[in-house]
Amino acid sequence: MPDKKFPVVVIGAGVIGLTTALSLQRTGKFQVTIISSQYPRSKGAQESQDWASPWAGAHWRSWAGDDPDIQRMEEQTFHELVEIIKTTPEAGVSFIAGIEYMEDRHKPYIWYRSLVKGFKEIPKEYIPADMNYGCVYETLVINVPKYLGWLFAQFLDQGGKLVEQHLPHINDATKYLNNILPPNSPRIVVNCTALGAMNLGGVLDKNMYPIRGHTVLVDLPLSSKGNLATVTKQGPRNETTYVIPRGDGTVILGGTRQPYNQDRIADPEKTDDILINVLNTYPQIIDGLYVGEDDTAFDVLKRRIISENVGFRPARHGGVRFDVEIKGKFYY
Ligand SMILES: Cc1cc2nc3c(=O)[nH]c(=O)nc-3n(C[C@H](O)[C@H](O)[C@H](O)COP(=O)(O)OP(=O)(O)OC[C@H]3O[C@@H](n4cnc5c(N)ncnc54)[C@H](O)[C@@H]3O)c2cc1C
Repeated sequence: MPDKKFPVVVIGAGVIGLTTALSLQRTGKFQVTIISSQYPRSKGAQESQDWASPWAGAHWRSWAGDDPDIQRMEEQTFHELVEIIKTTPEAGVSFIAGIEYMEDRHKPYIWYRSLVKGFKEIPKEYIPADMNYGCVYETLVINVPKYLGWLFAQFLDQGGKLVEQHLPHINDATKYLNNILPPNSPRIVVNCTALGAMNLGGVLDKNMYPIRGHTVLVDLPLSSKGNLATVTKQGPRNETTYVIPRGDGTVILGGTRQPYNQDRIADPEKTDDILINVLNTYPQIIDGLYVGEDDTAFDVLKRRIISENVGFRPARHGGVRFDVEIKGKFYY
């Protein structure tokens, strides 16, 4: 029987490209090919700073503010991830206690208090001195390397195809479809290139910009027993301190949010700052670790460092671009 599925190309194999490709493939209506420079099994993928996904912590936190469209997307993502936890433990997603400390100005944006379970405000005496609001609730963490591997395996199992290639121009994706589709049928290309959209010919999205994130990966085996919460402290000028247990005994500590900064090298002084901020915010991080007579909490945590990381979050003036562009028979 001939394959009646309609061929579609997704450019990009980060968490957005893989999720999009898998969702389309699962409908049973499309034959999806991902074309991408980096993908979960590509050489050096975990170390490459040319994509964002492997560098994420990652926990579910809201950044929607008062934007109802983003709130809706965040809510759908939350439900989707809860479903994955229930049905697919091997995907690397798990429930965890989440603590947020923030300034009053962030408080009006807690739209999710009715979405998450166990939402409670933390009494003033238990929150860091430089913060004026705290709350705790059940959230989710994703072990990103595991999750990306799972998404990719699902995509291939559902019949998806991958072409490893860097595309200089978006029309290069349509050329791929020209080889398999009759001349008059439409061409569908989904662009999930994140920061790559800044330089992709035919797109050149100048609203995109990087937000540099410096994080530290530490080895805290007891954290795999679920004794640590995922913690975020949002200070002035969007400075953040965060702790994200990945569920496998490693924990991501952060971090910086530096718009436009493209420095790829980790600064050892910043690593020390992160450790100090984390210890001030969440001293329980070293609970259960051996502290020698001449040791400080800082020494203890510093000895647990696995790597100092720098990644680049894709950001965009005007928000996420989520629309359809039709040029003749081409749908982007
Ligand atoms: C330090 C840090 C911490 C973070 N923490 C969190 C967190 O806790 N929670 C959270 O939700 N998010 C977090 N993020 C953000 C998250 O990582 C990103 O929002 C997400 O990974 C973006 O996924 P993406 O698929 O859009 O982009 P990417 O992962 O960057 O993927 C882009 C894809 O497009 C491909 N590509 C680009 N250009 C081309 C081209 N011309 N030709 C072919 N292929 C191309 C790339 O190879 C790649 O496969 C964090 C990010 C960083 C850096």
